[in-house]
Amino acid sequence: MWQVNNEVNKTVLISYGVLISSFFRLAIQISKQSNKSTLLADGDFLSNEFKKTAYLDARLLTINISAQDQIKPLIEEIVCLNTTILKEQFEIYKYQNKEVSNKNYNLVQLQHPDCLKKIFKDYFYTKFFGIDWIWSELIETEYTRSMFKTNFKEENKLYVCSYCDTDTISNARNAWIEHFLPKSKFPFISCNPFNLIPSCTACNVAGSGKGENIKNPIVSQYNRQIGDYLEFEYEDGEILIKNNTDDNIENFIELLKLRNRYKEESVNSRILSTLKINYSNALGQKNKNDFNKDIFFDFLHDMGRNNGLYFVQKDLLKYIDEI
Ligand SMILES: [Zn+2]
Repeated sequence: MWQVNNEVNKTVLISYGVLISSFFRLAIQISKQSNKSTLLADGDFLSNEFKKTAYLDARLLTINISAQDQIKPLIEEIVCLNTTILKEQFEIYKYQNKEVSNKNYNLVQLQHPDCLKKIFKDYFYTKFFGIDWIWSELIETEYTRSMFKTNFKEENKLYVCSYCDTDTISNARNAWIEHFLPKSKFPFISCNPFNLIPSCTACNVAGSGKGENIKNPIVSQYNRQIGDYLEFEYEDGEILIKNNTDDNIENFIELLKLRNRYKEESVNSRILSTLKINYSNALGQKNKNDFNKDIFFDFLHDMGRNNGLYFVQKDLLKYIDEI
C-alpha cells in the first residue's frame, strides 16, 4: 500500500546473483561431459570444480539442512540434468530476474526440475542467507536477514507493513521477508530484491493474507503507492473498500484479503478510535471551521509511516460526524 524501494539491499543481492549465475554456468559445463558419472564417483570432483570457479567455494558443499537433506547429492542431481534443460532453465532465471528487477510481476509460472526448485528455495534463499562467511567472503559484505529488514525500514523510513498499513514491522520478529511472487512457484526470483518485501505476519500467511497465492495482472508496492488508489468507505459501523476499476489494484486488494482485514472487529474499532482521537486533538480548542484538512492529512501521513492507518483515516475523515 505504501510505495517502497529497496536500493540498499539491491547492491548486496546483485552480487549474490553473480554467485548463482556462476553456479549455473558450472552446472552446464559439467553436464556436457559424457563421463560425468565417473567424474562424480570421485568424492573430490565437485569440491575441486567449486574451488576453481569464481564466486564458488568448496565449503558450500558442506552446508546441509540435516543428515537427510544434504546439498551435495542435490548438486550431483543438478549437474546430471540434460545440458539443454539446464541452459533453458538458466535463460528462464535471467529472464525472470530481469523482469522483476524492472518491476514487472506479471510472469507466467513455468516448470522447473525439482532439484533446481529445491536448491533455490531451501539453500540459496533459506539456508545460505543465514551463513555469515558466504556474505563476508564471497560477497564481501556483512549481511543477515535482520540487516535486510533494517536496511529496508531505514531506506523507506517506514515501520508499518507496506502491504496492509494496519500492523507494524518495527520489531524484527514481527517482520517477515515476504516473497511477492511466492518462492514455491517462482523459485528463481526468490533472492531478487524487488521480489522481497518485509511484511506483518498476517500478510505473509495464507489464511489471513496472501500466502503463496498469485494474481495477474498485478502491481506491487515497488510500482506504486497502492494506498492512494484505494477508496475506503464507512457504512453501518463497517469499513468497506470500494471495488476498484483498475484490475491491478483490485487484484492486490483481493490477494491481500484487505476487505476482510479492515472489517475485522479489532482492526475496525482501532481505526475508528484512532481517527476520533487524532481528530479531536487536531481540533483542540479550535472552531470546526478553522480545522485545516491539509495539515491534518500531513500529520496522519507522518504518523502513519510509524503506526499505520494513514490511508483509511484520510478517507474516513468525511464520515467523522457519524463516527
Ligand atoms: Zn501487513
